[in-house]
Amino acid sequence: MTTYNFCAGPAMLPTAVMQQAQQEFINWQGQGCSVMELSHRSKVFMQLAAQAEQDLRDLLAIPDNYKVLFMHGGGRGQFSAVPLNLLHSGKTAEYIVSGAWSLAAVEEAKKFGAVREHDIRQKTAAQLRSMVASSDWQIHEDAAYVHCCPNETVDGLEFTDLPQTQVPIVADMSSTILSRPIDIARYGVIYAGAQKNIGPSGLTLVIVREDLLPAKDAAIPAILDYRLAAENDSMFNTPPTYAWYLAGLVFKWLKQQGGLAAMAQRNQRKAETLYRYIDESDFYRNDVDPAYRSWMNVPFFLADEQLNDSFVKQAEQQGLLALKGHRMVGGMRASLYNAMPQEGVEALVSFMKDFAKVNG
Ligand code: PMP
Repeated sequence: MTTYNFCAGPAMLPTAVMQQAQQEFINWQGQGCSVMELSHRSKVFMQLAAQAEQDLRDLLAIPDNYKVLFMHGGGRGQFSAVPLNLLHSGKTAEYIVSGAWSLAAVEEAKKFGAVREHDIRQKTAAQLRSMVASSDWQIHEDAAYVHCCPNETVDGLEFTDLPQTQVPIVADMSSTILSRPIDIARYGVIYAGAQKNIGPSGLTLVIVREDLLPAKDAAIPAILDYRLAAENDSMFNTPPTYAWYLAGLVFKWLKQQGGLAAMAQRNQRKAETLYRYIDESDFYRNDVDPAYRSWMNVPFFLADEQLNDSFVKQAEQQGLLALKGHRMVGGMRASLYNAMPQEGVEALVSFMKDFAKVNG
């Protein structure tokens, strides 16, 4: 039976990547040992690391005045790292709150400096969950940066329009990076935990404009210091080498798939397939304003919540894994990251139809 894993993260990785990793697990490129047993300072690993960075730069068309950092600590590590690196005394940072993760980010930032919180969550007239358009965010032009989360993994809300501002935009792209092309030059910092669209957990990507690097010898914990990471090619301390290797395989795979324009087409089609069926059905519903529906994370509810457990159990029996919704939202959630093929979404819709027929 083919299984499809709809987990929000750690998430499904491309089968071809997993197979390659399996093949070279014990003996990587004739080295006589696994890639995870190599020194991060060995020539062969440094080559691998540089190649992965180059492939990422190609995929995202990252301009030369941006550093790419391979760090530790996940998305939450960056919730601390961002204010520690960018929020200098006497300055204020703007935090846009559009859901659970951006709320967690502002709570963390408050420990380190002055923040202004903008809760942009709102409901439409039809009581759908929505947000204030970026053109109406009240950003103070003297702010150190404006932090936002373009795709809220838990809530299932995504926005692509950025505000017109000279203030550096810092974006938590943990659950949307590499799902479509973006204009890097519009951002000051982009960060993402790897465990959704990049590779396994343990690795965190940071893309930072050079002029935003902190001052030398700033009082920042060394492993969160962007300047130290940049000056040491992300090898100030031992990086998560195996995750870096796997991310490199994923970047190659993305290039083979036609890059991010091709991924965007596929991701849009997958999301449309699922939302269309949900909207047509009386048995299921999604409560997000269509203008902000996420391509990556689709929360939905059954008309009868008492059927939730049997839905999840029967889906698992059909090889459709990890559909239980986040505890804060309830219901179901299907995460459709890059590695999820269209067939996985079709299989889910087909199961949902059968389940509705029997239980509706
Ligand atoms: N930001 C977003 C948007 C996320 O989805 C997550 C994790 N699901 C995090 C931050 C936290 O990431 P981590 O668990 O890697 O700290």
